[in-house]
Amino acid sequence: MTICARFAPSPTGRLHVGNARTALINWLFVRANDGEFLLRLDDTDKVRSTDEYAQGIEQDMLWLGLKWDRFAKQSERMDRYDKALIYLKDIGRVYPCYETADELSLQRKTLLSQGRPPIYNRAALKLSDKDRAKFEAEGRKPHWRFLMNDDVIEWRDLVRGDVKFEGAHTSDPVLIRSDGVPLYTLPSIVDDEELDVTHVIRGEDHVTNTAVQMQIIKALDYSTPTYAHMPLIADQAGDGLSKRLGSLSLAVLREDGFEPMAIASLMGKIGTSDAIKISQSMEELTKEFDFAKFGRATAKFSMDELARLNSELIHHYEYDDVLPHLKELTHLDIPRDFWYAVRENLKSLREIIEWWVVCYGTLEVVNEDKDFVEAAADCLPDSPWTEETWSVWVKAVKETTGRKGKNLFMPLRLALTGKDHGPELKYLLPLMGRERVLTRLTG
Ligand code: GLU
Repeated sequence: MTICARFAPSPTGRLHVGNARTALINWLFVRANDGEFLLRLDDTDKVRSTDEYAQGIEQDMLWLGLKWDRFAKQSERMDRYDKALIYLKDIGRVYPCYETADELSLQRKTLLSQGRPPIYNRAALKLSDKDRAKFEAEGRKPHWRFLMNDDVIEWRDLVRGDVKFEGAHTSDPVLIRSDGVPLYTLPSIVDDEELDVTHVIRGEDHVTNTAVQMQIIKALDYSTPTYAHMPLIADQAGDGLSKRLGSLSLAVLREDGFEPMAIASLMGKIGTSDAIKISQSMEELTKEFDFAKFGRATAKFSMDELARLNSELIHHYEYDDVLPHLKELTHLDIPRDFWYAVRENLKSLREIIEWWVVCYGTLEVVNEDKDFVEAAADCLPDSPWTEETWSVWVKAVKETTGRKGKNLFMPLRLALTGKDHGPELKYLLPLMGRERVLTRLTG
């Protein structure tokens, strides 16, 4: 049987750090097992789902390198969910409930304040036909709950090992809202069965869903997939992902100049026993993928680490490989020697624009050490300039001004680049050219 895993986002937002990781892990698992990767859009909520988000998610996935083999959309499969619901009604495993959201919320709060688990009290099961008719006459529409039984629910999780739940301690889940829209629980099961999904890989916030879904799967006489529930991502302090990090979208990371391979390298390894390092390709990540390497502790995500990986990746890019990308990003003419002069100073490709301005543009610099800088300008060697020019110039400046070391270099660097750090000046000088350098020193 072909292995199939799916990524099932709701198109109610763009991909963010959390769900991009779920997508990546599903993809890596499938590729490592010669399987099929299904992208399924969970768009049953017509109010919150949009085509723009759906397209955005597809764009984000392709950018990250996650092509899918198959595609499905829940909004086009509603008749299947109706059919499953009818079957569950026929066998008496779903029942109509008439409580309003406010009533339910009050019940929950009361239970919690008594230190009891917020399990639905099944009051709706005790309603007579007459009670129900009365609610309907008031204009109330029922929502539908699945009737859990007391069976113990067990599975062997690829990450968590043996997991056990008591059906008796699990609340009856709502499957269909009072406006007739199915919630995530039932459609997901129907699709996994009909689209031959063999592995369900998702965050551990879904563990309770799995327990519930396994009973529904049994009731529908479907086959149970293999489950893997990954620990959630947390920040470096282990505090769960802050709102800012949690909602950090791939679109924003892309805009900020992060490379897909840096993101994949980090997201593919956090929470595993492998060291975090830059992976050169998705193939390399795939080869190293194994659920046995996943731990139970939260996966630590840090922007600093992402930035480190991103720089490391960029520092090794070859000119011919990166040129198309740079052109698209900057719309600038990027010469080969310029790329090699600055690449090791870039934390993101976008930063190349700053260095382009330094080398080829006009820079407003305030010269604080004016007399010294002007004296240095008088010592500038004649053109043409090469990588040797810098040392010839420095020697002359030293002899004329008597300065040396940092006192000599720093004012020149500041005057020429406007920054106190950057690529070696011996590489920048020939790129800038004598005229530009002169203007900057004397301007
Ligand atoms: N649409 C669900 C979610 O985003 C899918 C969960 C699952 O993988 O089953 O939470």
